[in-house]
Amino acid sequence: MIGTQDRQHGSPRRNAAATCQWCGKEIAQGGRGRPRKFCSPSCKQRAYEQRNNVAGTQIPADAVILTPEKADRLRDGLFELRCCAQDVATAASESASPEEIEELCAEMVTLARKLEELR
Ligand SMILES: [Zn+2]
Repeated sequence: MIGTQDRQHGSPRRNAAATCQWCGKEIAQGGRGRPRKFCSPSCKQRAYEQRNNVAGTQIPADAVILTPEKADRLRDGLFELRCCAQDVATAASESASPEEIEELCAEMVTLARKLEELR
């Protein structure tokens, strides 16, 4: 599965939290200077390797290339996330207690966080 990574990833609305251009993990920005693009030297290295590997091909240097297994896991994770969102909607429409809705939302956040890491 090949797709060009969304440059808005990490969203301008919350620009305090930049995300790694390789794995999608949040990067803690320390101090002044240029914002970091990668969370670790290993992510930087892998991005560099991919740039070399796709040089001279039609594949964009910043393409997110996933193995079929990883793409499947991502799809499964999104399905779980959707089910959880539907549970929240159902709970709300059935006037569930705020505690119950809070618990379901916490679960949804956990599921979403797992999916933020692309590689
Ligand atoms: Zn990373």
